[in-house]
Amino acid sequence: MFTQIHIPQRNLTLKQPIGLFINNEFVKSENEEKIETINPSTGEVITSFYSGSFADVDRAVKAASDAYENVWKHTSPAERSLLLMKLADLIERDKCTLAALETLDSGKPYHSNAMLDLEQIIYLTRYFAGATDKFTTGETIPISEEKFCYTLMAPYGVVGQIVPWNYPLAMASWKIQGCLATGNTIVLKPAENTSLSVLYLAQLFVEAGFPPGVLNIIPGNGAVVGNALGKHPGIEKISFTGSTSVGLGILKASAESNMKDVTLECGGKSPAVIFEDANLEQAIEWTAKGIFFNSGQNCTANSRIYVHYSNYDKFLELFTKHIKEKWGFGKNFDPFDEDCTIGPVISKKQFDKISEFLKGEMPHPETPYKLSYTCKVHKVLDDPPESNKGFFIPPTIFTSVPYDSPWNTEEIFGPAVTVTPFETYDEVIKLANNTSYGLASAIFTENIRTANKFINDIQAGTVWVNSSNDPEMSVPFGGYKMSGIGRELGKSGVETYCQTKAVHMSLAQPGS
Ligand code: NAD
Repeated sequence: MFTQIHIPQRNLTLKQPIGLFINNEFVKSENEEKIETINPSTGEVITSFYSGSFADVDRAVKAASDAYENVWKHTSPAERSLLLMKLADLIERDKCTLAALETLDSGKPYHSNAMLDLEQIIYLTRYFAGATDKFTTGETIPISEEKFCYTLMAPYGVVGQIVPWNYPLAMASWKIQGCLATGNTIVLKPAENTSLSVLYLAQLFVEAGFPPGVLNIIPGNGAVVGNALGKHPGIEKISFTGSTSVGLGILKASAESNMKDVTLECGGKSPAVIFEDANLEQAIEWTAKGIFFNSGQNCTANSRIYVHYSNYDKFLELFTKHIKEKWGFGKNFDPFDEDCTIGPVISKKQFDKISEFLKGEMPHPETPYKLSYTCKVHKVLDDPPESNKGFFIPPTIFTSVPYDSPWNTEEIFGPAVTVTPFETYDEVIKLANNTSYGLASAIFTENIRTANKFINDIQAGTVWVNSSNDPEMSVPFGGYKMSGIGRELGKSGVETYCQTKAVHMSLAQPGS
């Protein structure tokens, strides 16, 4: 159930689990099918791992259910806290190995990106360890001398969790740690192309002392394992992070099975608005990070930048200069190198999808009789040489973009951004909200009144003022509109895994 992986850039050889993780053991899938996982910076196969079936999901749900009934629901918050504290120490001990696996499998730059993810994971694990006896205290409600009412924040039991490939360990940790803190057990599915680091992490749960069955991991195809989780009658709550289209399928699966509670963290097309009084240097630094960090594969990426016309030309000139100085593939196209700040995108499929946007011409979605949409495409850095087999996309700026065209409305999910001028506040707030998504937003201004108005008017779950894509693990996160349902992280990251139980306690004397 293990294979050896060698990562020469880190002088690291590790024993990598490749089985499904059920009852604290790595096991084969029922049909013994496997999935190959590819290194996106070379296009080469790293290894393959077992891929689950419906029967495997069923097995894992049974393990999680037994663990909940027999062990975990009898575990005190203090004991759960100690286990999570231990886990945080182990993640800290192994952070370089976990980050190296993440870089190998997802292509994210090791120094500027994967290590940062690990720091956040360690912090949030300790945060949730401290939350086991907080945030879930319920309330007492005065009724009368003869009746006393209170609420309990009760766990759901078995929770299904589905995570995407852009932050494999971080997205899994956002979900697992908060869910275990509140006394639920879990069956989690990582993404097809990034299952290695999460399987490695599973070993640390065993070492920390988590009982068998509390956390189970079933890698596999979304349409099989994800679908089975969505429909399983033994799962009482499902938490999904991924695309809006698959998120809608999760809602449907819940409706068609047992009406399980659903939390969805889905796509985004987040605007950054730079007003005439903004500090341009600050705006450039943050909006560049906001689109190029993680190679543009961020649900909250500020993929639409609106700049007041008085600053537009200057912004384009300085933004381009900044990208050339700070963002690039590095001389070896190796995300393990310190000079690599933009890695490859995750797969050939994503590479091909993004390449369509880079052609500067897209079909109009409504009618074949209308002209195609067009825009101007500025590749800020050169394409990699032909000999390079990685999925590298150069940082790209789109200008003269029609407001309702795919560059402005669809998630591109790569290092590519639209930059559009505006004149008035009313015009730009309309443009900023002109999307079915509502995940995040950023505003750059020195005027507190403009900022405050924007905070009120923007339809987004997060507003960054004079920064962008600067997340905090202790602050709630989630989307408006089709970016999702519910919130994770902070206090919400605990509450989302509890349901309210109302207790009516009669104190009346019999016969009174
Ligand atoms: P995806 O929706 O294709 O896949 C997400 C997960 O769902 C994967 O594990 C996949 O295997 C699984 N899945 C696929 N088909 C399924 C099905 N029919 N039933 C159940 N599960 C299924 O998304 P992705 O391409 O992995 O990730 C990118 C998307 O995730 C982007 O849209 C991005 O915005 C979004 N995302 C959102 C957040 C957030 O917090 N809002 C965070 C990260 C990524």
